[in-house]
Amino acid sequence: MCTHAASAAALSAAIDLASTTRSATRGSATLYQGTGVVTGATVTGVRRDGHGRSVLLKTALGGERELACGQILVAAGRCPVAADLNLAAVGVRTGGRGEIVTDARQRTGNPRIWAAGDVTGGPPYVYTAAAQGSVAAGNALFHSERAVDYSALPRVTFTSPAIASAGLTEAELVQSGVACDCRVLPLESVPRAIVNRDTRGVVNWSPRRQPAGSGACTPLPMGQGR
Ligand SMILES: Cc1cc2nc3c(=O)[nH]c(=O)nc-3n(C[C@H](O)[C@H](O)[C@H](O)COP(=O)(O)OP(=O)(O)OC[C@H]3O[C@@H](n4cnc5c(N)ncnc54)[C@H](O)[C@@H]3O)c2cc1C
Repeated sequence: MCTHAASAAALSAAIDLASTTRSATRGSATLYQGTGVVTGATVTGVRRDGHGRSVLLKTALGGERELACGQILVAAGRCPVAADLNLAAVGVRTGGRGEIVTDARQRTGNPRIWAAGDVTGGPPYVYTAAAQGSVAAGNALFHSERAVDYSALPRVTFTSPAIASAGLTEAELVQSGVACDCRVLPLESVPRAIVNRDTRGVVNWSPRRQPAGSGACTPLPMGQGR
């Protein structure tokens, strides 16, 4: 794993990550406990002068903004680091980003070698690495012939409050033509949040629309908050 040098592009990616909260907040920007989130923005530069630092943005609507800040933290940009392992010598293929290429069962180009985790270039979450590791070990040791199912991959960002989602987002559902009974539920209405005495945030709930009278639902939540 490597961390890229600070760059406007990486910072842009970091800010784009915030777009996962866009449908939950129903806006291009929100102010939450003193923290602003600007979605759909592209970082065009950073500036430092006698008064401090600032980040220059092009917004989703094409306007420009300058955000004054004390410090700039770039928290995006990782890539697999496997080049020094000479994997080609044992027939393990790597891809364009240096990732180890596996099939759906985590088997590499060498049928006796399996790989899992960030180095394989999949969604970079701890849950992905854990699931892939379990599948790889089962396939290598017990010939389980299993594959990881990503359809409900939990995507949890360890912030406080947390940002988490699983399944398809509202935007993805709409884009795929699936009718959705999407709604936003404030955590003030969630008993667990009330018991925790922490009702910050919302749950963006995106169940597929069911035929009238079926009474069934398929929960595909995308949540923000605890
Ligand atoms: C700053 C940061 C924040 C993150 N936040 C989140 C988050 O909020 N939510 C989330 O789900 N995920 C998050 N992640 C991602 C998560 O940490 C990774 O997806 C997960 O750790 C991947 O597990 P892994 O086992 O593939 O790799 P790693 O956890 O990186 O483990 C790889 C291990 O291999 C060792 N190693 C490397 N090369 C060699 C070698 N040649 N020989 C022997 N050992 C070697 C390393 O030292 C390391 O211990 C974050 C990652 C970072 C860096």
